[in-house]
Amino acid sequence: MSIAPPTFPDISLWMAELGPQPPRPPLQDAHDYDVALVGGGYTGLWTAYYLKRLAPALRVCVLERDVCGFGASGRNGGWLMAALEGEATLLAGLAREARQRARQAILGILPEVEAVLAREGIDCDYHRGGGLFAAARYPEQRATQLAHLDHYRALGYSEADYRWLAGDELAARLRLHQPLGAIYTPHIARIHPAKLVRALAACVERLGVDVFEHSPVIGQAGGELHCAKGRVRAPVRLMAVEGFSWDLPAQRRHVLPVQSRVLATEPLSEAQWATIGLAGGEVFSDASPLITYAQRRADNRLVFGSRGSYRYGGQPRADFSGDAAAFAGIARLMRACLPQLEGVAVTHCWGGTLGIPRRGCPHAVFDAASGFGTAGGYLGEGVGASNLLARTLVDLVLARDSDLARAPWAHRGLPARTLRRWEPEPLRWLVYKATDHVLGREESACAAGAPRWQRRLWRGASAALAALRG
Ligand SMILES: Cc1cc2nc3c(=O)[nH]c(=O)nc-3n(C[C@H](O)[C@H](O)[C@H](O)COP(=O)(O)OP(=O)(O)OC[C@H]3O[C@@H](n4cnc5c(N)ncnc54)[C@H](O)[C@@H]3O)c2cc1C
Repeated sequence: MSIAPPTFPDISLWMAELGPQPPRPPLQDAHDYDVALVGGGYTGLWTAYYLKRLAPALRVCVLERDVCGFGASGRNGGWLMAALEGEATLLAGLAREARQRARQAILGILPEVEAVLAREGIDCDYHRGGGLFAAARYPEQRATQLAHLDHYRALGYSEADYRWLAGDELAARLRLHQPLGAIYTPHIARIHPAKLVRALAACVERLGVDVFEHSPVIGQAGGELHCAKGRVRAPVRLMAVEGFSWDLPAQRRHVLPVQSRVLATEPLSEAQWATIGLAGGEVFSDASPLITYAQRRADNRLVFGSRGSYRYGGQPRADFSGDAAAFAGIARLMRACLPQLEGVAVTHCWGGTLGIPRRGCPHAVFDAASGFGTAGGYLGEGVGASNLLARTLVDLVLARDSDLARAPWAHRGLPARTLRRWEPEPLRWLVYKATDHVLGREESACAAGAPRWQRRLWRGASAALAALRG
């Protein structure tokens, strides 16, 4: 029996299966608001949500270039993590108590999201099954994961937060090709990304926020944001565009757009899942330099994603229908982790653009004098982090004296003064391509069991490049 080729949904399988919804009006004419948000993804919508919760009288609008969820928020792998990429950088140098407060804020992400979902009646297939960071195929992965565990300990996380599972304990949860061990954490939940972003948009509307779709902001001057057919005057203007900062030159050099690709299998039967595992609804990743992430969806499909690509000049991408070869590579990687999937159809492929900040960790920045601010820079961990960074941005805007306003990811001043900028092209492209090449060589040398000196060479080269980028 031949397997039908996959389809490439417009935005993602997540968005496609919810179907279109009645369009929201584009911005027309001139309007006054107290706060104008640019970007209808998680960051923009969580920020609007907390602004209205804390200051209901504020007039708030969201301007979205396409539809809410068009960006990474409607396309991601659905890992909602109580973690920030670049935590080590953020926590380094903090005194013991400040570090403890920052850790508590990060670990508080899931309980906070759970409280909002319950309060607002949001169903997004939320399931807190934890996460497995596995060594699934070759011995170097075990060393990588054990080094990560040491890193979590050094940051002050306990055994209850991140713990080691030996090969047999891992295999009891997930039957990988070579289960060599894994880090397990209870601080990750699986969600349906599009259900969350759609529900947040509807929720902020109920709270009185005006959401305009098909309204790209094409210019800003003197406290105004300009769209093609209208403009908004607002003393506070907040950018929440993450990897889509191409149209906004002031943002472009702070967050680098990088693509990641995702595929979904056909729904698997309970008998098939019995050969795979994940009965607890855990998400999992294989410690590959190619970066992988997977979840067993509520409807029993497996969603599997991997590191993507960078376009010269840093343009975001939304259409991945021409990338069949790259998706075939991801499918091979998925089957190398789970040979049980041989013969199982990949039915959908899509991709998205995420944002990489130059400092390697997320930020919330607000300049009270000009009323300009932004939040983002999540790398591949923005689903949960956007909730924390949005709450931080709101505390900065409302000048609240809070732990979040003092957190190491909170900055006062103009983004241009507080955030590091990426090097100009062609340097950025060259460094990305070199990194990509070296990571690919590391992966193939280790996966093929190449001679020890070759594996050590490529692992050393990857580590050296990472140090160079830092
Ligand atoms: C394929 C993929 C898989 C991922 N998987 C995970 C995961 O499993 N877990 C995790 O934690 N993170 C994951 N991420 C990252 C995570 O999805 C993002 O960090 C997060 O969604 C960022 O949310 P955001 O609102 O800041 O940005 P986005 O969701 O990208 O939203 C930005 C919005 O701004 C709009 N916009 C841009 N320019 C303008 C303009 N000029 N005017 C008006 N609107 C504009 C865009 O249309 C877009 O809707 C993944 C990302 C990708 C791409």
